[in-house]
Amino acid sequence: MAQKGFYFDMTSCTGCKCCQVACKDVNDLPVGRFYREARDYEGGKFPHMWAATVSMGCNHCDNPACVERCPTGALSKDADTGLVIQDHDKCIGCRMCLMSCPYGAPSYDETEGRMGKCDGCSEKFLSHGLQPACVGACSTRALQFGDIDELRREHPDAVSDLNVLPSSSITKPNYLTTPKEDMR
Ligand code: SF4
Repeated sequence: MAQKGFYFDMTSCTGCKCCQVACKDVNDLPVGRFYREARDYEGGKFPHMWAATVSMGCNHCDNPACVERCPTGALSKDADTGLVIQDHDKCIGCRMCLMSCPYGAPSYDETEGRMGKCDGCSEKFLSHGLQPACVGACSTRALQFGDIDELRREHPDAVSDLNVLPSSSITKPNYLTTPKEDMR
C-alpha cells in the first residue's frame, strides 16, 4: 500500500481559505460544517508578533483512533491508498469518531444524524486522476497531496507537530507541514 497524505507549506499560505471553501463546495457543506479548515493563529509579544494559517482536514492517520472507536465499522483504511473512508450507510451518528479524533476532523450532520469527513475526494476526483478539491484550489500551491513517502523526500524539513496541535505520536497523522518559525 502506498499511503497517501497531505503536505502544507505554511510559509507560502496567504490565508485566503480557498482550500476550505473548495472543500465545502464540493461536499455541499452548510454554514458551520467543515471537512477542511484553514485556521488562523497569532501570538507573541510586541514587537515580536506572529500570525499564521494552518490548513488541515482528516490526516488519514496510521493509527486512526476514529476507526478503532467506531462501533459499527463505518470507518476503515482503504487497502490501496491508506485513506480513511466512511461507509455512510453504516454510520449511526454516535459521534465516537469525532470524540476520539485529536484533530476534531469528522463533522456531524444534524439533518441526516450522521457523520461526514474528508475522504481525499476519492470518488469525486482521485478516481478520475485528479487532485483533491482543496489542493486544486490553492492559489499559491501551498497544499500538496500524494504518496506520503514521496512528500517526505520532497520536503525533508517538513514536520507533523506544531505548537498548536496535539502530539503526532497519538495517531501518527499523514500530514506534513513546513511551519513558520514561531509555530515549531
Ligand atoms: Fe481519524 Fe482524526 Fe486521524 Fe482523520 S485525523 S484518520 S478522523 S483520527
